[in-house]
Formats: sequence, structure tokens, C-alpha cells
Amino acid sequence: MNKECKDYYNQEFKDLLKEVDALREKPTLFLHACCGPCLTYPLSILVKHFKVTVGFFNPNIFPQSEYEKRLATLEKFLQEYTKDENVKVDLIVNEDDFIKYQNLFKDRLASYEGGPVCLRCHAYRMNLAYEYAFRHHYDYFTTVMTVSCKKPSRELNEIAEKLSLQYPTTKYLYSDFKKENGQLKGILIAKKYNLYRQNYCGCEPSLKERQNVLSQKKSQSEKDLEILG
Ligand code: SF4
Repeated sequence: MNKECKDYYNQEFKDLLKEVDALREKPTLFLHACCGPCLTYPLSILVKHFKVTVGFFNPNIFPQSEYEKRLATLEKFLQEYTKDENVKVDLIVNEDDFIKYQNLFKDRLASYEGGPVCLRCHAYRMNLAYEYAFRHHYDYFTTVMTVSCKKPSRELNEIAEKLSLQYPTTKYLYSDFKKENGQLKGILIAKKYNLYRQNYCGCEPSLKERQNVLSQKKSQSEKDLEILG
């Protein structure tokens, strides 16, 4: 099938699930998660087909208090969801090297969200998680990040496809979780579990950009109010 087709990765995903369901035992899957809200919908599908371990590998998140908040949100969701659904899901939290990350991604300051530095950032975090999955003999690896409309599914799948060559015994599970209203379904699950939903991507520049947008909106609405008298 042509990879330009917009349903290519979702179709690959569905085909693979059929293969997996024919196996006697569920295979193991290491699932990289950037945050709790993005985990919700992918996990709700994947637990039906795999023995899932979630990996929180995100040295991009700034500041430390936000990192801890996102991790606590994800832990709360996992605790409540696994109890409600009567499923077992393990969690691995990476020993993140925040200073190393910040040094490697200084050029993000001169870039923009969704630009080439962001693709490197996705690749960096996916590599950390994929390497862990490979070293610990997981059958499959994937990331939840394709659920977000702000993250490009095609590029994420291409990055992981390249990484899979380095980690050949852990297969990459193609995905496009934003298909079939995946992002909306995820938001609804996040609301049901009352999860904190952050309003910026993660790194320090993305936080500052968000703050700038919010302060511009605030001063614009103050001007509008002045005009209205
Ligand atoms: S905006 Fe998001 S994806 Fe881009 S560099 Fe920052 S944390 Fe990484």
C-alpha cells in the first residue's frame, strides 16, 4: 500500500492486531507515553491485545514541577483505569537526564513548535524508550504520540521505522491513534478521570511561547473592553 494514503498506518495497525489476536498468548508491548491524557485512548485499545508496560521517558518537560505533575497525572490514571477495567499495566519511569536534554536542544529557542527540532525531540524520546524495550526483550514498541493532532503521525512512524532497524528483536507497532476520532475519544476519557491537561507541549521554549500567546490574548481583550467603554 502507498504510504501517502492517509489511512496507511491505521490499516497497518489493524492488520497487526488481527495477527496478534490469533496468537495463543498476548505479546508484550512497551508503550511510550508523553502524558496521561495522550495515554488514555491508545491504552484503552492496546490492553485488549497486548500485555502493556507504559514508559514515561520525557526529559523535555520543563520545569521539574510540571514534570512531576504530568507523571502524577499519568500514575493516577493508570491506577484508576486498571482497577476499573481489571487489567494489569506496569509503569517504567526513566531516570531522565534533564541537563543533557536541554544542552542537546538549545536550538529549539530559534525554532518553533512543529519544526525540525521537534522531530528530533520526538526521535530522542522514542529512542530512549525503544532502547529500553529492546534491552528488556519486549515483543513490540510503540508511542501514544500519534494521538495528538499537533504531532505528525507520518513522521513519527517514519522515525520509529528507522529506529526499529537498531532494535530488530522488538518490532515497531505502526499506529495513527488520531484516526477514528482518537483524540476526541482520549479527551473524553481524560475528562471522565478528571485528569490535568497541560496547555503547552513540554520544553521551556514551548512554555514561554504559550505564555506569550496568553498574554497577547489578555491585552487584546483588555483593549477590546476599553473600546466598548
Ligand atoms: S515543543 Fe514539544 S516536541 Fe518541540 S522541542 Fe519542545 S517539547 Fe519537544
